[in-house]
Amino acid sequence: MTSAILYRISSPQPASHIFQVVLTIANPHPEGQQLRLPNWIPGSYMIRDFSRHVGTISAQNDKGVTVAAHKTGKSDWQCEKTDGALIIHYEVYAWDLSVRGAHLDQTHAFFNGTSVFLEVVGQQERVHTVEMLQPENQKDWRVATSLPLAASTKPFGFGLYQAANYDELIDHPVEWGDFTVASFTACGVLHEVVITGLHRADMSRLCRDLEKICTTQIQFFGEPAPFSRYVFLVTAVGTGYGGLEHRASTALLCSRDDLPLSTEPEEPASRYRGFLGLCSHEYFHSWNVKRIKPAVFQPYDLRQETYTPLLWAFEGITSYYDDLMLLRAGVISTESYLELLSQQVTRHLRTVGRFHQSVADSSWDVWTKYYKQEENAVNSIVSYYVKGSLIALCLDLLMRQHTEGRISLDTLMQTLWQQFGKVAKGVGDEDIPRVAAELCGSAISKAQWQTFWQNALYQTDELPFGELLVTAGVSCTLRAADNAQDLGGKPSALQQVPAWWGARTQAAEGGVALQSVVRNSPAQQAGLSAHDLVVAINGLRINQASIEKTIASYAAGDVLTVHAFRRDELMAFSVTLANPPQDTCVLALNPEAADGERAMQWLLGH
Ligand code: ZN
Repeated sequence: MTSAILYRISSPQPASHIFQVVLTIANPHPEGQQLRLPNWIPGSYMIRDFSRHVGTISAQNDKGVTVAAHKTGKSDWQCEKTDGALIIHYEVYAWDLSVRGAHLDQTHAFFNGTSVFLEVVGQQERVHTVEMLQPENQKDWRVATSLPLAASTKPFGFGLYQAANYDELIDHPVEWGDFTVASFTACGVLHEVVITGLHRADMSRLCRDLEKICTTQIQFFGEPAPFSRYVFLVTAVGTGYGGLEHRASTALLCSRDDLPLSTEPEEPASRYRGFLGLCSHEYFHSWNVKRIKPAVFQPYDLRQETYTPLLWAFEGITSYYDDLMLLRAGVISTESYLELLSQQVTRHLRTVGRFHQSVADSSWDVWTKYYKQEENAVNSIVSYYVKGSLIALCLDLLMRQHTEGRISLDTLMQTLWQQFGKVAKGVGDEDIPRVAAELCGSAISKAQWQTFWQNALYQTDELPFGELLVTAGVSCTLRAADNAQDLGGKPSALQQVPAWWGARTQAAEGGVALQSVVRNSPAQQAGLSAHDLVVAINGLRINQASIEKTIASYAAGDVLTVHAFRRDELMAFSVTLANPPQDTCVLALNPEAADGERAMQWLLGH
């Protein structure tokens, strides 16, 4: 087979974690071909420098004559000019078990194109062909990917695959292994669920639930789906969590305990519900961010950071709909959904950083802050996922309230799909507020909109979710947390609220390490700091198992003597305990019939 750009990828020894790649360029640039590798992968906003795993590259022409190739930057190579085709050999080390990189051993292989396929500068718009070679000693391995198969390749077979251009090539992750496969059809589109790793998942249950979710989402944006086949690539491990969206697939990492067994109750328990939420989230991205996308992502500049204030919309609105789609698909109950929404509000209320960073800034600084969180994150960062989803909630309820339910966030998303995603037009910074205002007409005044957006996106005041939920027939109650495991969504199980000191802890050798200390909390006011090793409270040794109970046994106003090591110096602190913050949310449907009707209109999208 002849192809202008052909990658042959193999691994003679998977246990070495090394892929061997041979790239053949039929028509290299007459002045010398430039090559490069992306420094980040779309959807994960951090410079990762994938080139650090690429070994020395060597080049020759089709007559076997060596062509000099040297590096011109951390991820850039320049080949000397040559006659005829250019053939590049290189190795890629793959030992990163995440959805963003590449991983290879004798049990399986997983790779993103951003890790293994050098970009042929100037020829990105040509057809790119990949030949995948089956490792000699892995006769049971098959290939799972949404990358289109060449006519000669059997489904799940090794062989030739083809992408229309480089952008498409790197948007279809690939799995090789002896995996489990199940499939279903949603709105006429074949969907495959591929699970790698030891597991006992009830595949028919999983497919039954995913089919409802996918059907609901395709119908939400309108048929036909924007892909002809979709693949859920799941890696099941002991402990793990992650997902990355692609145009016709998603790569997911989960704990095997998140997958349903045949004993999974009809109403999904919280772990499986969380996994379905992750699937729903990445699937919603097929529209919102893969196709309805910021103008600055068209095209992606994968050499450097690309700044946008809009991640609140692409991650936040997606985070709002991920769980809501489980409800609308009939996979979870209204009570279950309200519990999830309560927990999202709770997550937000427990982030003091929401008073110190706007969501637009959180989006802009994602490269250096959200993706590089350290001990002060709770105090300094607001999540564009969590706050973004609550802005989506407020926006939805605001539009419903002022238009008697005629216009909603559903209408807005469907309009954004028609006006931007479907026609591949990038979304500008002002487009979402503009389209929302156009849809609502005179029902919402210019001044009302200005107040809403200014507050939601650029300021750090509390969002009006409490009062807006009331307009939708749902009451929002705030209370103190019962304990560190209390995620919200249910009434308190305690008679009396425990005292609070404002530090998060983790087990450590010889005591308890402080993970983070909340700004202005009793612990911080006493001088305690993240990374301090707490060894005793009021003269008695403590550990991770006892510290929470110890503090809860005192009352607000009591003063504790806390001994802790900072570096190797023992220090004493006087902590005056306080009443805990009201940071735990419980949402419930109001019993009045009129409220119930409005709530169902919102929740079920009628
Ligand atoms: Zn996402």
